[in-house]
Amino acid sequence: MPGKETLLLRNIFTPGRNEIVKFAAGELLKYFQRMSIRDLQIKVITRGSYDMKEKGCIWVGLYDEFGIQGLSDDYSEFDDEITIDVKNGSGLVAGVNPRSVLLAAYRFLYEAGCRWVRPGSEGEYIPKVDILKTHCKLQEAPSYRHRAITIEGAVSVENVVDMIDWAPKVGFSGYFIQFREGYTFFDRWYSHRNNPTKAPEEFSVGKAREHTRRIEEEVHRRGMLYHAIGHGWTCEALGIPGLGWDPVKKDWPPEITGYLAEVNGVRAMWYDVPINTSLCFSNPVVRELVVTCIADYIAAHPNIDLLHFWLDDGFNNKCECENCQKQLPSDFYIQMLNELDELLARRGLKTKIVFLAYADLLWAPQVERIKNPERFVLMFAPISRSYREPLVAKDPALAPPPYVRNRLKLPSNPDENLAFLRQWQAIFPGDSFIFEYYFMNPGTYVCDPDGVYMARLVSQDVRNLKHLGLNGLVSCQMQRVFFPTGLGMTALGRALWDDQLDFDALTVDYFASAFGEDGARAREYLEALSGLQDRVRLGEREVMVAPAALKGALETIDYFAPIIDKNLSLAEPCHTRSWYYLMLHARIMRLFLNMLSARADGQDAQAVDLWAELKRFVQENEDALQPVFDVYEFVDRYDKGGST
Ligand SMILES: [Zn+2]
Repeated sequence: MPGKETLLLRNIFTPGRNEIVKFAAGELLKYFQRMSIRDLQIKVITRGSYDMKEKGCIWVGLYDEFGIQGLSDDYSEFDDEITIDVKNGSGLVAGVNPRSVLLAAYRFLYEAGCRWVRPGSEGEYIPKVDILKTHCKLQEAPSYRHRAITIEGAVSVENVVDMIDWAPKVGFSGYFIQFREGYTFFDRWYSHRNNPTKAPEEFSVGKAREHTRRIEEEVHRRGMLYHAIGHGWTCEALGIPGLGWDPVKKDWPPEITGYLAEVNGVRAMWYDVPINTSLCFSNPVVRELVVTCIADYIAAHPNIDLLHFWLDDGFNNKCECENCQKQLPSDFYIQMLNELDELLARRGLKTKIVFLAYADLLWAPQVERIKNPERFVLMFAPISRSYREPLVAKDPALAPPPYVRNRLKLPSNPDENLAFLRQWQAIFPGDSFIFEYYFMNPGTYVCDPDGVYMARLVSQDVRNLKHLGLNGLVSCQMQRVFFPTGLGMTALGRALWDDQLDFDALTVDYFASAFGEDGARAREYLEALSGLQDRVRLGEREVMVAPAALKGALETIDYFAPIIDKNLSLAEPCHTRSWYYLMLHARIMRLFLNMLSARADGQDAQAVDLWAELKRFVQENEDALQPVFDVYEFVDRYDKGGST
């Protein structure tokens, strides 16, 4: 006989045999067992169909299985909607598709008090509750369709798996692996580039492929939308692997160079980087090579939901030959999109194609038009935008500057960026999202000492996407960006789900969940630190140059040190880990501020030494920082003149 505190009821039932739904039910079970104040002897039971008579349990499944009417009749396979109707620990947790069921399960757990403040088990705050008393009733669709994270930075396969596990817990629905196997991102980590204190591990393209397969499994296990590739088609089409941005020095034969863009009278690789090299797109043979390469890849990879077809990753490198001069690069791009669509249709392939407005392609086509908008999704990537102000148009009538081949300047202000978007929207009526870089640059988050500024900007921008006619955001970013906190990433996921979310309330909740009792003090500390810096220079290496501000920041860190110390061994592992990261952050900030002080005093040689000391500190402590802080990117950025 079970003891009086044992509870045998509240089993979790799934009416179908969908593996993603079963995974969702398993997640509910896992967290119920950790949350319950009682000994919870429950299990997941699969039934052939929904049985209303089975009460005192939680049913997890699809709208169709429960006969739930959706908020809209017009959902694509990319859309989500959830319904939760649980009273006293029994009822329904449902979604319009399997991915939505998982999102519903996490949402129910969130309402019951669970928080995931960063990826990994020590990022979970799971409260003790009485499952018998849990109530939740809601029916919701997210504010935006596209809510995905893109691989960048330096990563281990575990970093990515942890990120994918974390993402749907805060509302994300997709993951994007750039290039065929994400080789360059893994290689940076396993070769320990930028960290001589770690011995390089053996790494190969084959290993990167294995990691990519593993990641794909994790994406599919959750029913998440899988985005793939992006750049690289322009070299893969010529048989040259597009592994990353490393130069490949080689004497290329004329059968290759003949297809490359002619710039200043020469057809050659662009600074020896195949992926950055543009092609002679007016040449129909070139277009056919590219389009066939993509169609073959799609045929061999039916698991891809959104295939990104971008051109080269160069800028002002476009072909100047007589025929290419006749049209804009985007006109040739549209020709290829139409040719690809026709080829895919002939082969019966329905994969959606994401095309890109970026760099030279910000200038919309003058002649060509997309024939089958249903096939395509427009991705607007304002990579040169400033993060000092929100992406809002002050002058909605502004027109983009004229296209001057290979003499272009990319705009930083929102108005000019949005002028390009409007031009594309005028010729393309289909689905679209923004590609954003909030967490791409270490300078914009490590040296925005609290991360609160960026998190606030993210939630403001997301709220505005609707007014820009964009249906979501895919974040191009380092994966290890949860240092000192994961507020920014949490705000991004939550705001894409609910763009009316109260940012201040989210912040208060985040700090309480991440840091426990002294959470509000941690928040005040980071905000005080941030208040001392010159916001205008956010993201630039001159950040915090005012000597008085530097001194004030150092004093703030000294003042707060005892509070960090007293929180370093709390009972809750999630809280302890947050304080531990804050302790490491304080040490890094001290070194960083000392370096900037030396520079502000004109002590350049000393600044160089202090940068070396800071670099050594992050390198030597990389094992401790690894899941939350990208040492490779930090060193890469500040080594390029960061200390002088
Ligand atoms: Zn040409």
